[in-house]
Amino acid sequence: MSQPVAILTRHDKARLIAPALSQLGWQVAEIDSFDTDSLGSFAGEYPRFMTAQECAFRKAALAADLSGLNIGIGSEGSFSVGPFGIGTYNLELICCVNVAEGWAVTGRFYGPSLAQQWQLNDTAALEQALADIEPDQHLLLQQGSNLKKALTVAQAHNLALLWLAHGTVTLSYDLRAHLSPERRFHIRQAADDLARRLQSHCPECTTPGFWPDNALPGLPCEACGVATSLTRHRQACCRRCGHTTITPVAARHASQQYCQECNP
Ligand SMILES: [Zn+2]
Ligand SMILES: [Zn+2]
Repeated sequence: MSQPVAILTRHDKARLIAPALSQLGWQVAEIDSFDTDSLGSFAGEYPRFMTAQECAFRKAALAADLSGLNIGIGSEGSFSVGPFGIGTYNLELICCVNVAEGWAVTGRFYGPSLAQQWQLNDTAALEQALADIEPDQHLLLQQGSNLKKALTVAQAHNLALLWLAHGTVTLSYDLRAHLSPERRFHIRQAADDLARRLQSHCPECTTPGFWPDNALPGLPCEACGVATSLTRHRQACCRRCGHTTITPVAARHASQQYCQECNP
């Protein structure tokens, strides 16, 4: 039985998300009558009171509302400094709400991104920056109040050469999904994660999204048996009925290097 679901997007994300959901028998209909750019910058415009998760949820609810379908999907990507302050990381969230049954499940991808920004002063620096960029990755070029978006590597190269005659040029990734192959790859992985979560049901009430997200520490030290900060169990908790399962991880012991007693 084919189940129609709606996604709110103007950047062709339905094409990226649909394959993962087709294994559930879902057919993704794209709603492009709505300007998601007015929503797309939720995180940027209201960083103080809306998280990426809230944006994805709001888009999903809106997709269901506007389409009149029970199931809506919303996607939100963000970039931030990586763990330990190193590199750039991309978080992709795909939220699925069922307004008839009253549940929401979010699939995610979190991992390193090649996205960078360069302040360029000469041709050599420009050539060096462009050398490592994936062929389909589009770029932004900025100088003072001049901003050009969606440039191919060749276009960015030619325009930057002209602009460099007038001073420093800022070159960066255009991270909109239809212009970034890396982001499309990450969105597909978030869609796979969503499909896995949707197929995992609460054993008590059958609500989808039953997933061992909570890591409980306490894996014992291999030498002295004292509990370490490493994960010992994983906990899944149903958001609807509260049913909880706790499963031990595969590892039985933690290496001494994580032990406060053996390696303080
Ligand atoms: Zn439940
Ligand atoms: Zn120990």
